[in-house]
Amino acid sequence: MAKLSITDIDIKGKKVLMRCDYNVPLDKNRNITDDTRVKASLKTIKYVLDNNCPLILCSHLGRPKGSVKPELGLKPVADRLRELLPDASKVIMAPDCVGGEVKKLAEELKPGEILLLENLRFHKEETDNDAGFAGKLASLAEIFVQEAFGTVHRAHASTAGVAVQLPAVAGFLLQKEIKYLGNAVKNPQKPFVAILGGAKVSGKIAVLKNLIDKVDTMIIGGAMTYTFLKSKGITIGNSLLEEDSIGVAREVMDKAFKNNVKLLLPDDHIIADKVDAGAEAKEVSDANIPDGLIGVDIGPKTIRKYVAEIKSAKTIVWNGPMGVFEIDKFAKGTFEVAKAVAEATGNGVVSVIGGGDSVAAVNKMGLNDRMTHISTGGGASLEFLEGKDLPGITALKDK
Ligand code: AMP
Repeated sequence: MAKLSITDIDIKGKKVLMRCDYNVPLDKNRNITDDTRVKASLKTIKYVLDNNCPLILCSHLGRPKGSVKPELGLKPVADRLRELLPDASKVIMAPDCVGGEVKKLAEELKPGEILLLENLRFHKEETDNDAGFAGKLASLAEIFVQEAFGTVHRAHASTAGVAVQLPAVAGFLLQKEIKYLGNAVKNPQKPFVAILGGAKVSGKIAVLKNLIDKVDTMIIGGAMTYTFLKSKGITIGNSLLEEDSIGVAREVMDKAFKNNVKLLLPDDHIIADKVDAGAEAKEVSDANIPDGLIGVDIGPKTIRKYVAEIKSAKTIVWNGPMGVFEIDKFAKGTFEVAKAVAEATGNGVVSVIGGGDSVAAVNKMGLNDRMTHISTGGGASLEFLEGKDLPGITALKDK
């Protein structure tokens, strides 16, 4: 069911409570070292302020586990918002996120002013999805806007709880995640190609099982390759193997065969004697990896095969690097795949990069603005790809 977004309702002059993802990295002096998440919220903030609304922002930061940890307070975010929003008449930092004083500040808040609530997770009730606590948050405003995609896979008071107590809609950022991740998985333009890599089969079992019923082609890379190859009786040397996931790899390959899905595995590899920048990278022109050596990236034949498949796609979803891309000499496979996805995007293909390390890889290669959509949530985007309902989205109003 499609969900209402902030532009689908009349918010003029109404008091808005907006859940953001201000879980920003801080250095020892509590300076924000990367303000991408703060900047990402600005579009919706400006829209709300332009509609003459008093705006209350809330977020978690780190893992205070239900107690007040001053080093995890949101003041650095308030300071950054003041710098980024010179037109906002005021950015007030609240002493807490609930309680009499906060209620009074919220009541007195004027259109164009922002009140940033203190870290929600200073209260255990937030992660417990306590209805009373959610009610206290809801009582501060008339409309709830969800913008924190990174936490919508959790049923917390500020995701699921508050959204059933107020008219709740998606902000621009969340709307974009729903549009691209949702459409890519539920309603893809075909051929639909999934590229799955990364460290472990076990972390992506549900994604593999969900996507194998939807895609035309599944491309496998990264360390999860070797569990698949091992299950086919191919030798993998000392490459990463998850014995417990061999059954899953077989199941996915059987399903691919039954569904007439192309499941592509590497035909050659880059190998090394250790996963270390000092190790020598060698090519092995066969799917088998010699004893004692480790597969660290896909080889040139495999790159050509994967790039050709990417060129034939209309929709691409990518999660997980093709090799140990953090080390330059093992990064070629991931880089060439990223380049091919960027080129395909330029030719009209919808490309969705689903969170975590593939996002880091695309950013490292400077290709981020050449993809259709780069998801902002690691865990949440994986759960989307698993086909799960995300509680913070389910709770929003249906269209
Ligand atoms: P994930 O978080 O599951 O997407 O895994 C990402 C991690 O997988 C990255 O840190 C990569 O270095 C790692 N990785 C990719 N390929 C390999 C490989 N062949 N051997 C070991 N680690 C790998």
